[in-house]
Amino acid sequence: MSASKTAQTNQRIDGKRLWDSLMGFATIGATPKGGVRRLTLTEVDKRARDRFRAECEALGLTVRVDAIGNMFARRPGRDPNRLPVLMGSHLDSQPSGGKFDGALGVIAGLEVMRSLNDLGITTDAPIELVNWTDEEGSRFGHSLMGSGVWAGIYALDKVYALTDTEGATVASALDAIGYRGTAAAQAFPADAYFELHIEQGPILEREAKRIGIVTGAQAQVWYDAVTIGQDSHAGTTPPSTRKDALVCAARIIDLVDRLMRARGEDGRGTVGQLLVFPNSRNVVPGEVRFSVEFRHPDEAEVGRIDAEFTQQAQAIADASGVKLALTTLFRIPAQPFDASCIDLVRQGAAKLGYSTREIVSGAGHDAVYVARHVPTAMIFTPCKDGLSHNELESIEPEEAEAGCQVLFEAVVARANRTV
Ligand SMILES: [Zn+2]
Repeated sequence: MSASKTAQTNQRIDGKRLWDSLMGFATIGATPKGGVRRLTLTEVDKRARDRFRAECEALGLTVRVDAIGNMFARRPGRDPNRLPVLMGSHLDSQPSGGKFDGALGVIAGLEVMRSLNDLGITTDAPIELVNWTDEEGSRFGHSLMGSGVWAGIYALDKVYALTDTEGATVASALDAIGYRGTAAAQAFPADAYFELHIEQGPILEREAKRIGIVTGAQAQVWYDAVTIGQDSHAGTTPPSTRKDALVCAARIIDLVDRLMRARGEDGRGTVGQLLVFPNSRNVVPGEVRFSVEFRHPDEAEVGRIDAEFTQQAQAIADASGVKLALTTLFRIPAQPFDASCIDLVRQGAAKLGYSTREIVSGAGHDAVYVARHVPTAMIFTPCKDGLSHNELESIEPEEAEAGCQVLFEAVVARANRTV
């Protein structure tokens, strides 16, 4: 065993260099309010990708790009037969996004690579830093695109054909910025994947914890709902003859909220989209289309919510004299992360003396799809007021440093583990 493998306690990443790098990337697509607009596969995204590639190559890493534009930067290990340990996140952003959602995980990975070089560490296994394509889904309406194709959940040709509002396809957008790579866009054997991300919620900040040890992602069920009543004159239709699709929808929306609140702080239930027809102030609405989604860490609970919601929503519609068409778009199972990877995050944080809390991810992340093929864990850092997908999204430099240091510990420990 080499000295570099035994003296890990004093191996520190450079927090200032990490912060400067985060701020440097944040100038690419910077918005006046201090956020970032870096929509996937645009010229702005290309600038971030080019910079990422240049910095990786300057560190001696070998960069390859796959057919959906995912970027992998490899640092060789001592043993060419060992599977790589992966880490990463995404450099694309929401239209009015923040500086840290996604970027933190990629740029912290760069800092891990820089620190390994500075400390003269050669790990047993190779390490690869990943920038996944289009995590956000705001341009082509399809989130987790790069990791989803990689994981075999979405077919490449279908994804290539998706269009943005201007009619540009994913394939043409990849070609336009020169990031349709030659590597196959499919899962390859890897030893582990670690993703550092801001929490995007209020729990760590509220409980004053520095590190979130993410144990998995919650289960979800999504529906399209349509209530169909009858358009009629607002002034002449008495209560007894109304078939008001909006009143019915409102009662169902209230049901969504009640089913959520009945689950305490773990419950999630949202109607975020509502289209009213004919949407005229003096017409009783004849049709309403709306979205419904529920999430919960416990898959069985999502099953119970699903049963209760469909039955009770139908009863509400019947009592309102309105037809209800409910389509289940999908049910995503809960995705538990790998116990041994979670443990490396826990050990890393403990070694550094950081306060921690186990947490289930409320948002979707590339890690959730990667976890279907590769042992995976995530690390969360707090973010100010739990705010994300917002230009005001903010974290403290010490929080970024702590998250990056835990990432370093977990990745190096995994890459040097005895197999
Ligand atoms: Zn993200």
